[in-house]
Amino acid sequence: MPRGDGTGPAGAGPGTGMGRGRGGTGRGRMGGNRAGAGPSGYCVCPKCGERVPHKVGVPCYEMECPKCGTKMTRE
Ligand SMILES: [Zn+2]
Repeated sequence: MPRGDGTGPAGAGPGTGMGRGRGGTGRGRMGGNRAGAGPSGYCVCPKCGERVPHKVGVPCYEMECPKCGTKMTRE
């Protein structure tokens, strides 16, 4: 055996921690609750301005404007 003394190969480096960083992706509520908007609110078309009630469970950017087919955005 050529390699008798194992100078530890893997995982001995100083920067091998995967669990570091990105600790704070906590969603900060920016106080975007408008009066009477409820938990869901509306999605708005950035193109033609059409507004549709936001469906729960479907993000606005996955909805399409019923008028022009553009992806909606959150109001
Ligand atoms: Zn539209």
